[in-house]
Parts: sequence; structure tokens; C-alpha cells
Amino acid sequence: MIDVTALGEVLIDFTPAGTSENGQVQFERNPGGAPANVLAALTKLGRTAAFIGKVGDDQFGHYLREVLANHHIRTEGCVLSRQYHTTLAFVHLAGDGDRSFTFYRKPGADMMLEQQEVKTELIDQSSIFHFGSLSMTDEPAYTATLSALKYARQKNVLISYDPNLRPALWSDMEQARERILNGFEFADLVKISEEELAFITGMEELEAGTAWLREQFDTKLILVTLGAAGCFYRLGDRTGHVSGFQVKAVDTTGAGDSFLGGLLLGILEHGGLEDLEESQLQANIRFANAVGALVTTQMGAIPAMPTRQEVLDFMQQ
Ligand code: ADP
Repeated sequence: MIDVTALGEVLIDFTPAGTSENGQVQFERNPGGAPANVLAALTKLGRTAAFIGKVGDDQFGHYLREVLANHHIRTEGCVLSRQYHTTLAFVHLAGDGDRSFTFYRKPGADMMLEQQEVKTELIDQSSIFHFGSLSMTDEPAYTATLSALKYARQKNVLISYDPNLRPALWSDMEQARERILNGFEFADLVKISEEELAFITGMEELEAGTAWLREQFDTKLILVTLGAAGCFYRLGDRTGHVSGFQVKAVDTTGAGDSFLGGLLLGILEHGGLEDLEESQLQANIRFANAVGALVTTQMGAIPAMPTRQEVLDFMQQ
């Protein structure tokens, strides 16, 4: 069995890391990509994971497959492309640890994943299937993702969704929004930021926006991450808020992904979403908030993921 299989992008982030003694600008090279980050969080927390996606048959693609394997993520579903290059991202860091991205993806191998390249046997063996929005917005990855979602649903695999907002990558925002909304048709649980919720629903209010999603798509669990303020949730008709932890953030890259990894750990331990009590969910979110907070205290996403023991120790402080 595999705990979580994720489909989507894995890429390399180049993050500014100051200047050297002779004044040269330095970059740190970090593996990233939201779905791969979620898996890395989970394996660091002690669970099993597999990745489905596509990278270029270039130095970056080989490096990324190696990174996944070193993090105990199964890579047989990660196709190597001779035709397309590995997707790259350049990170801009603001003083408060917040970041934005410029992508090199013209087209990146991740968006060229074909339906027949998706190893469905990985989905068969999984308790949870996770996907993000990047593979939802370009063809042929969009069709490949939809067919994987149909397959996961048919096999009764719990489906988790992270509709990341990537305006820098989308020339047609209305088409992107429509395709992202199509992802909700399949999702049992969704992790979303306030900004993403407002873009998708057109509503600023958390209660109203999440109520609309629930009505439209019957999404069982919606988590709205609020940065340092923690997380707002909707479990069926019940809503609430779980406060975040206070830390000195240096780089928020991967905070939301690691939060989701921490949250999925709780869902795996519960055996799904059936009969999930609100108090259990709140405890799961508190753990996930701690994972997210810890990740912001270090540079990068995957290298910053904590172990379960580190999270528990941090929560005791
Ligand atoms: P995203 O990375 O998707 O934008 P957030 O920035 O909201 O997501 O972060 C996800 C989670 O990580 C938050 O819900 C919170 O638990 C934790 N987190 C993020 N930033 C901070 C911070 N500055 N201090 C403490 N916790 C944080």
C-alpha cells in the first residue's frame, strides 16, 4: 500500500542567497513544486508516498528524480521527457519571508504529461490521491489529470486538492478559473488560501466563500490557510478557526504544502474523512499548523520539512 500518491509538478526553485565576498549574486537551488512538497512532508513525517508527473531528460530532471528517491518517494510514475525541459522557478523574497515566482515553463515537461503516461496502478494502491491546479490549467496535463481523478473516484480513493493560484503562468485567467473549478468536482478535501478562495468564489468572506464551495461541490472538508494566523476550516456545515504558532519566519516557501502534509497524516491515521469529529480535526489542524510554522523558520521547502518528533517537541514548548 501507498499512503499518498500525488500528481503534478516537480521543479527547481532558484532562491537568492545574498552575495559572495567578491560581490557575486548567489542562488540556492532547491527542489520544489507543490505536490512534490506535500509528499516530501509526508515521508519526513514517516508515511509512504509516490509521485506521478513528468520532468525533462536533462540535468535538472535527473536531479529531481534523485531528490524524490532520496526522500523515499516512489518515482516510477515520474516520466522522463526527451522532448521537453524540466520546469524551473525563480523565487523573489520579500523582507518578511514572503515570496513570488517567475517560471521557466515554455512548455515545461510537467504540463506535457499525457493521459497514457499516468501509472494508474499507483493510484490503485493508495489511500489518498492528491493533485494541484498547475496540472489543471494546460493541455495535455489537464486531460491526464481529469482521467486520473475519474480513476481515483471509481476506485474510492480519497481525493485531496490544492488549487494553487499562479497568475504569472496563466494568460487566460477566466479559463484557468473554470478549469480549477472543475477540480472541485472530484475533491473530498481542499486546502486553499484566502486569496485563492476569493479568486475562485468571488467572495472575500471565509464563511460565505466556503459555504458556496460546499453547496456547489459538496466538498466535505475545506481548509483555508491564513499564514501566521493559522487556519479556518469547514467540515460539512461546521466552521471554526485554529490559531497558528508564533515563529520567526525567514522563508514561507512550502508552508502551505507542509501544512497539508501534516493534515493528511491525521486523515490517514483516522482512516479517511468518515466520522471525523470536529475535535479530532482541530487537533489535526493544530499539528499541521506546527508543521507549517516550522517550515517557515528555514530556507527552502523540502529541506525544511520536520520529522514527527520535531513537530511534537515544538508543540510542547
Ligand atoms: P501558503 O503557503 O499556501 O500560502 P500559508 O502561508 O497560509 O499557505 O501557510 C500555511 C500554514 O503554515 C498556515 O496555515 C500556518 O499554519 C503556517 N504558517 C505560514 N506562515 C507562518 C508564519 N509566518 N508563522 C507561523 N505559521 C505560519
